[in-house]
Amino acid sequence: MLLLIPGPVMTHADVRAAANRDIAPWDHAVRGEIGSLLNRLRILAGGIEGIHAALPLPGSGHFIIEAAIRTFVPPAKDQGQDAGGGILIPGSGQYAQRMMRLARAAGRRVVALDVPLDQPLDPALVDAAFTADPTLTHLGMVYSETSTGIIHGPQAVGAVVRKHGRRMILDAVSAFGALPANIAAHPEIDALVFTPNKCLEGLPGFSLCVSPIARLLERQGHADSWSFDLADLYQNGLENGHGAARFTPPIQPMAALHTALDRLDAEGGPPARLRRYQDNMATLYDGMLALGLKPCLPRALQGPIIMNVLAPESDKWDLQVFVETLKRHGVLISNFRNTDAPSMRIGAIGAIDRADIEKAVLAMGRALDELGLRR
Ligand SMILES: *Cc1c(COP(=O)(O)O)cnc(C)c1O
Repeated sequence: MLLLIPGPVMTHADVRAAANRDIAPWDHAVRGEIGSLLNRLRILAGGIEGIHAALPLPGSGHFIIEAAIRTFVPPAKDQGQDAGGGILIPGSGQYAQRMMRLARAAGRRVVALDVPLDQPLDPALVDAAFTADPTLTHLGMVYSETSTGIIHGPQAVGAVVRKHGRRMILDAVSAFGALPANIAAHPEIDALVFTPNKCLEGLPGFSLCVSPIARLLERQGHADSWSFDLADLYQNGLENGHGAARFTPPIQPMAALHTALDRLDAEGGPPARLRRYQDNMATLYDGMLALGLKPCLPRALQGPIIMNVLAPESDKWDLQVFVETLKRHGVLISNFRNTDAPSMRIGAIGAIDRADIEKAVLAMGRALDELGLRR
């Protein structure tokens, strides 16, 4: 089955094979392997030794986003002593909404910024919001909004955050490994967060962040949680060795990520991976037009990760029926939609190339024919 979903993505057989063994996570040799994995990820994020640290947390991407919010954004109740706190979150789509929910549930003050869903984030809106509310300490933004497929570049927005002396939490979950990331060029970033199972083409089970060490030391004991305290996680590394886990880590996916990073290096790093994904997406975009379907975004705004396509205009359309029919032709796409109008979401990432996308487009044509939906 060809998975064209926004994650977990298709992986290479070598990556899965690396997980096919029993591993003792507390063994000292394994601790060293985890430490070296974290160093590789810190370097991939543009982090500098002694200045930045990569930290792993068991659980999916939401777990590390929650941990970053809890660790770095001062709780609302601390406002007196902590000189105020709060996180500005541009409502760029479903994943931005999820970040808001995580922050509110953690008792952090959230200011939602109304932004158009079909445009990249305008730095001027962030500028105005920070000017209007000096008590906001953070911006939380989604780099690749997986619900719309739009890329919201952190470069220009980051400059605005720096200008105001505020901090940034960057959800790079569906960007990291393909789109540019350089934390050293973004001193405003408290946490650059991502997972192994999207553009890194690894297995799910844990999540990651790269953060400035000085901030991890400053933020000791503020998370209102032990499990989600990144400062405590860093402290544990200082006491027990970089790579030492506090609780049982998902060690097989960690081993698999080493192999996934070897494959990323062999491919030519993130720029080469981005080119493959862009080629996949261009093929997919052309294919959808050839099938008579309408992409939700103009080509110029279509990011390389995932696309939304409007469903054929027909009373016969039913997303789940289409998904099941397409599965019989060997292709699996996402079975929920993020637009008001009926649509479907198709991923272009993972260990796949143009030939796979061409096969998928043929399969979609057959499924549409079978359901009498082709014009
Ligand atoms: C996938 C994703 C997440 C995390 O989702 P999980 O299911 O928790 O791994 C967060 N943000 C974005 C933009 C994503 O694409």
